[in-house]
Amino acid sequence: MDYSQYFSAALGRLHDERRYRVFADLERIAGRFPHATWHSPTGPRNVVIWCSNDYLGMGQHPKVVGAMVETATRVGTGAGGTRNIAGTHHPLVQLEAELADLHGKEAALLFTSGYVSNQTGIATLAKLIPDCLILSDALNHNSMIEGVRQSGCERQIWRHNDLAHLEQLLIAAGPNRPKLIACESLYSMDGDVAPLAAICDLAERYNAMTYVDEVHAVGMYGPRGGGIAERDGVMHRIDILEGTLAKAFGCLGGYIAAKGEIIDAVRSYAPGFIFTTALPPPICSAATAAIKHLKSSSWERERHQDRAARVKAVLNAAGLPVMTNDTHIVPLFVGDPEKCKQASDLLLEEHGIYIQPINYPTVAKGTERLRITPSPYHDDGLIDRLAEALLQVWERLGLALHKKPLAAE
Ligand SMILES: *Cc1c(COP(=O)(O)O)cnc(C)c1O
Repeated sequence: MDYSQYFSAALGRLHDERRYRVFADLERIAGRFPHATWHSPTGPRNVVIWCSNDYLGMGQHPKVVGAMVETATRVGTGAGGTRNIAGTHHPLVQLEAELADLHGKEAALLFTSGYVSNQTGIATLAKLIPDCLILSDALNHNSMIEGVRQSGCERQIWRHNDLAHLEQLLIAAGPNRPKLIACESLYSMDGDVAPLAAICDLAERYNAMTYVDEVHAVGMYGPRGGGIAERDGVMHRIDILEGTLAKAFGCLGGYIAAKGEIIDAVRSYAPGFIFTTALPPPICSAATAAIKHLKSSSWERERHQDRAARVKAVLNAAGLPVMTNDTHIVPLFVGDPEKCKQASDLLLEEHGIYIQPINYPTVAKGTERLRITPSPYHDDGLIDRLAEALLQVWERLGLALHKKPLAAE
């Protein structure tokens, strides 16, 4: 039997739909963020990265790199096993304390990624609540969807950020049925924000628990980088906050923060926690350094917002179709998978600008886009060059510009 035919057929389908993905071979240059080397087919070339989720460049911050190197030198690389078998190492304990403090919760629990924290965290929490109904926002990340699915609980989907619809579902479920509301705080493809205070109002009125993914907000919003919930003053009203160490904190790993007994129960029952090796000590120390730094330094957050606003204003003034939002994400509408990919290729090959195309299934078909993520280190010169390059690419591909530039934001 020719098994390989199944795989080539599967790949053929992706090619036919113009959504076969190619990864550029990049090497970042520590200390020169956002510059990197692209190992192109014809040899190494310098490029500027405009789509990193290391939003604040913390992955190259001297304190963070220093903490990683120091811990690796002192205690070694790996954790040596799962926490149930090999024990818990000290840098991990320190990191969990740091995270609990960041979110004003009694405890926090580390997982090997944000993905795993949602998947095993939601599944375990909901499974432990008899007859739990999960109310999930329509645009929740795949890791949350998988967690909901694996819980085996009934789930209902509320229209994205639609409070009236959520309320309708809460009323229909009745006051006595246990309910878990699951949503994100900042949706990373459109850059829009959930009305967390109003969601908490509903949760309190109808006796529901709340689980909020703050992956694209931790480190970047709130006076100490606690996320949108901190910024909006509702951190204490959310039962479970979930975050990542891999984006604004520049490392790797995911976590949940909540009341002590919730964390203890997930620690004791979650397969995605129990059966996998703990995060390495150097990663934990590096993440702790990043969190600590961002708790007291607002420079990165302020400069980040300033840069994002500037990119939006410059691209808008050039007539480019920036999708409006109030956050650090700058989505540029293309609306065609082939052209999206071509735009990305042209930017890289002819302008040394790296922006991955965002196609289905990451976003809905027909809403393909370039997702630009400015950092504190993208200066005015880089922004102007980005706008020029995009204009050339837009013209070359016959993509639409505004007739009259919109007012700058
Ligand atoms: C990236 C992402 C995750 C997963 O986090 P990782 O640490 O990268 O595994 C979870 N939720 C959302 C909304 C994300 O965008």
